[in-house]
Amino acid sequence: MKTKEISRPGKINKPRVNVVTLGCSKNTYDSEVLMGQLKGNLFDVVHESEQVRSDDIIVINTCGFIDNAKQESIDTILQYSELKEQGKVGKVIVTGCLSERYKPELEAEITNVDAYFGTNDLQNLLSTLGANYRHELIGERLLTTPSHFAYFKIAEGCNRPCSFCAIPLMRGKHVTKPIEELVKEAQYLARNGTKELILIAQDLTYYGLDLYGKRNLDDLLRRLSDVNGIEWIRLQYAYPSGFPMEILDVMNERENICKYLDMPLQHISDNMLKSMRRGITRQKTIDLVNAIRDKVPGMAIRTTLITGYPGETEQDFEQMQQWVEETRFDRLGCFTYSHEEKTHAHSLVDDVADQVKQKRADAIMEIQQGISFEKNQEKISQTYKVLIDKKDGGYFVGRTEFDSPEVDNEVLIDAGKHYATVGSFVNVKIDSAEDFDLYGQIVK
Ligand code: SF4
Repeated sequence: MKTKEISRPGKINKPRVNVVTLGCSKNTYDSEVLMGQLKGNLFDVVHESEQVRSDDIIVINTCGFIDNAKQESIDTILQYSELKEQGKVGKVIVTGCLSERYKPELEAEITNVDAYFGTNDLQNLLSTLGANYRHELIGERLLTTPSHFAYFKIAEGCNRPCSFCAIPLMRGKHVTKPIEELVKEAQYLARNGTKELILIAQDLTYYGLDLYGKRNLDDLLRRLSDVNGIEWIRLQYAYPSGFPMEILDVMNERENICKYLDMPLQHISDNMLKSMRRGITRQKTIDLVNAIRDKVPGMAIRTTLITGYPGETEQDFEQMQQWVEETRFDRLGCFTYSHEEKTHAHSLVDDVADQVKQKRADAIMEIQQGISFEKNQEKISQTYKVLIDKKDGGYFVGRTEFDSPEVDNEVLIDAGKHYATVGSFVNVKIDSAEDFDLYGQIVK
């Protein structure tokens, strides 16, 4: 990992901080900012080191999104507080979404945690550790991803009323980060070897409305695209209603903006979209996907769906199945509905049985597996620009511009026949393909 620019006058012995990150890429980003601040304050800081020390300060950045994620966060807190009981770690600090949402309950239930913080509590957390928030470090952070790609949070919070979603309860209202600050951050990352920026927010397409009085993700994209060294810019978490079509012009205009769009759509039946308060109809959703594909030929669209939402009938679900078959998304993920207290949907009856929720999600993923296989066959004999993420076993593993890390397809190159540097771009001719993986060889 490339050494960082965070300045550290005169090293002083302080307990090591071992940061553990759960949940989504926005949490990863927040952990990296925290680690950058701690490093700037002379702390020895590591990410998820398994070799714990008896004086370690463990900071757990939790997720409070849906049932499974909440359970994972609670298990992790219990695991480390148990280690503390055994004297194997020093302090346990909990922050992030679960702590923001359930602080009183957690304080009452798991009492040997030293302190609980919310999602917007960085300065308090730092001062509790004896560190000062250093403004001059804004935009500087310690990456936990391979340094050639970085998650890039352009806004915090969300103003949308989606009935099933607890995120606004944990992350608050939408707050756009100023363009100048983001450009400075991108320049810092590029100087430190980052080539791919993965733009994230709760609602990417709302960017600018609160700060500039207009949607101006297009302006931001042009400014980031001008940053020297940034070769790929990827968009995640777009929202369909009020979608700013002008960003597609920038995509067509700029070579270094990936023809990739992640846009959770959640459902397609009007009955469900209305109850979910998504602010869009079935027909408008279909028209939007077609318009995006017309405007940017070859665009890879990723989406996320929910099965088993209250009141979802067999007919609603059949509509979803048929739509997924017809639309042939390039990438798709599917969640089962989670009945989250204090959300609007919590006032509805959670009437779809868990096994039915799961059976429907499995059925959707089975359709998608077939579509992904067929689409991957079409890539055989094509050559793609691939970013090498790692060496794994006998393969170099990378991604095309149509693939996000951790969730999408991978390109595997036989390391016995080819050599590539992690973090570099190579051209790969695809020889064979499976449901979610491509195999190929490096060509000039
Ligand atoms: S856009 Fe909807 S689903 Fe996404 S974070 Fe906001 S409220 Fe939740």
